[in-house]
Amino acid sequence: KFDEERLRSLIRAVPDWPEAGVMFRDITTLLQDPQGMRMVHNTFADRYRDQNITHIGALDARGFLLGAPLADALGLPLVIFRKPGKLPAETISVEYTLEYGKAALEVHKDALTENSRVVLIDDLIATGGTLLAANTLIERLGGKVIEAAAIIDLPALGGSAKLETAGIPYFALTSY
Ligand code: IMP
Repeated sequence: KFDEERLRSLIRAVPDWPEAGVMFRDITTLLQDPQGMRMVHNTFADRYRDQNITHIGALDARGFLLGAPLADALGLPLVIFRKPGKLPAETISVEYTLEYGKAALEVHKDALTENSRVVLIDDLIATGGTLLAANTLIERLGGKVIEAAAIIDLPALGGSAKLETAGIPYFALTSY
């Protein structure tokens, strides 16, 4: 059964990382707790079972740790969205702006088929830029994001509101 207090007790807050004034939410402590991880995996799997989802889309890199077990639990193909230069076959790419500077995200062109129904997953929603970039790639391949899922939402950074405005449902297990 999902226990938000227990989940929160497993997430470490690291002040002033990667720079002064930032409170980094660190899930490596959660990764070291097998029961906590099982609770997280089961919660996501229960939510997306029997929803006619066709693919799980996992975001580089911590999203991979959640997407792989979710795809396995639901018996669905796993599609990985990667930082530039990591995928070997033909890719499509999108650039997006970060708080400081630019980033890009890529996916293999043949990773999705027309009318795919994708659940996107990452560890955390901050500005939402990463999930919105993945949504752009999925739309270009003719698919649709059914929901963007994360362990943590940081609503003050505006990402979940941006997803909502873009018409992309989101789901987070806890928020700070
Ligand atoms: P966004 O694109 O601004 O929403 O940033 C989300 C991405 O940055 C995710 O892939 C997160 O892993 C990472 N990220 C940003 N802030 C944090 C944090 O406090 N803890 C862990 N990851 C973070």
